[in-house]
Amino acid sequence: MIRSGRTLTHDQQHSCDLVIVGTGAGGGMLMAEAARAGLRVMALEEGHHLQARDFNQREREMIELLFQEAGARATEDGSVTVLGGRGLGGSTLHNTNLCKRAPAVVLEHWAEALGLDGWRPAALGPDFAAVEEQLHVSTIEPERVNANNQVLLRGMQALGWRGGLLQHNRRGCAASGFCELGCTFDAKENVVKVLVPEALAHGAEVWCECRVERVLLEQGRAVGVVARALGEDDRGPTLTVRARAVALAGSAIGSAALALRSGLPDPHDLVGKNLHLHPGAAVAGRFDVPIEGWMGIPQSVECTEWIDYLPGSPRRIWIVPAFAHPIGFAAMLPGFGAAHMRQLRHYRQVAVLVAMLHDESAGRVTVDRSGRAKIRYRLGDADARALGDGIAACARLLLAGGAREVWSPYGAKQPIRTDREAQALARAVRPLAPPLTAAHPMGTLPMAVDPRRGVSDGEGRWHGVPGLYVADGSLFPTSLGGPPQISIYTVGRRVARTVAGDLSR
Ligand SMILES: Cc1cc2nc3c(=O)[nH]c(=O)nc-3n(C[C@H](O)[C@H](O)[C@H](O)COP(=O)(O)OP(=O)(O)OC[C@H]3O[C@@H](n4cnc5c(N)ncnc54)[C@H](O)[C@@H]3O)c2cc1C
Ligand code: SF4
Repeated sequence: MIRSGRTLTHDQQHSCDLVIVGTGAGGGMLMAEAARAGLRVMALEEGHHLQARDFNQREREMIELLFQEAGARATEDGSVTVLGGRGLGGSTLHNTNLCKRAPAVVLEHWAEALGLDGWRPAALGPDFAAVEEQLHVSTIEPERVNANNQVLLRGMQALGWRGGLLQHNRRGCAASGFCELGCTFDAKENVVKVLVPEALAHGAEVWCECRVERVLLEQGRAVGVVARALGEDDRGPTLTVRARAVALAGSAIGSAALALRSGLPDPHDLVGKNLHLHPGAAVAGRFDVPIEGWMGIPQSVECTEWIDYLPGSPRRIWIVPAFAHPIGFAAMLPGFGAAHMRQLRHYRQVAVLVAMLHDESAGRVTVDRSGRAKIRYRLGDADARALGDGIAACARLLLAGGAREVWSPYGAKQPIRTDREAQALARAVRPLAPPLTAAHPMGTLPMAVDPRRGVSDGEGRWHGVPGLYVADGSLFPTSLGGPPQISIYTVGRRVARTVAGDLSR
């Protein structure tokens, strides 16, 4: 059953085996798998229950509805916009559906450095495969590559760089191009479409419009949560859920904030630190012919020439197309006033690529007095250099793909018309130079076998607090360097197994 906090007229208390905070990739999968394993599951979600008919493709309305802080969440210094979802399904409601397993090099590093042997690629393989089957993951057909993505393909071919087609979890896709505003055609094989029905069929109960304010601890054990029903004024009745197990799945920002608000045990001062974001910089190219990048599947091709995933490597950039609807596009373009307007008039003829950083810089989530999450993040020198290389690589790809000129938010020389000028962009990024955008927060409650190095163990159990689990992207000890949803869904699946096993003892 899906219920709404808005229907609560007075404080209520419920009980179950497992209460889950947040219903994104991690929480959604945990909910379905734990219910299937026979546990009585309740999931609490602060956002709304939205369905295909609610997505009206209007940018201003949908961003406000679907994103945390109405899409305006950013680091304290404003240098990085941090996008995250809000609603039943979390960020899977409006993500761009790319599916890629965590790179083997990254997983091997976790095993070697942190003792996470259960995360070696061979050990994870069956879980990855099961998740991919459940979410109907397939390779995007070449004929569905839109003009923006074709530019990247042409650029890679001309420069002889590595890359190719991506995989996605869509079925019945009308190629409308509105993925980040929610899918009117219900083509996303995501939490709401696949996992919520599964969970409900096995008796799970979902409460939307309920924000969990704190986790309840008794004698050192997690025993439930207290949530606030979100109505007109956010001061609604409380919903207390007593449970044998509590799982945090509110994303790397939301889970860390909840842990801090609740004062969860943190003897080694780790909670909220180690925030990785995959910050990305967009670079635009103007063509003589129409691109109309807003039409079609937004991202279907990747360039992997500039990433090798090795710790400490200078090559840590993943490149994908990233077209935006008009408001996002205007925000992404450099310049002001009349010059800005002149660029906007070329909307139809522009292709956009983004250089996304496999970041080694670590930020921090804290909370203010009201318990609201605050994000601190500063690019280190090595990351700024890597990002500079990525921006230059995007500019080169656009020119090699046929762009007449390139507009970059970095570098004094604009527009860029030659490969030589494009290469010079590599030196244009300084730490803190805005604007960067991030959509993959992770790492704030990292796992490690040794409690001095990680908040949770390799199976998502909070070290030293029986009954408490983490089941979202917070668990990753480093950045992944690519789209994280498949790995986070896999976290949900593994934590479900752990909780079911622990509760059966
Ligand atoms: C625009 C965009 C595009 C993306 N595209 C891709 C892509 O193509 N491929 C890919 O792999 N990844 C993509 N991602 C990232 C991916 O969707 C996320 O990494 C993933 O969904 C994160 O899963 P999660 O479980 O950690 O958290 P989320 O999916 O963010 O879910 C967390 C949920 O918890 C809720 N919550 C938080 N705190 C509380 C609380 N206290 N009480 C109740 N509820 C709470 C939130 O409202 C939210 O619904 C994209 C992300 C964005 C923003
Ligand atoms: S491109 Fe496909 S998945 Fe994206 S919104 Fe359109 S129909 Fe839905």
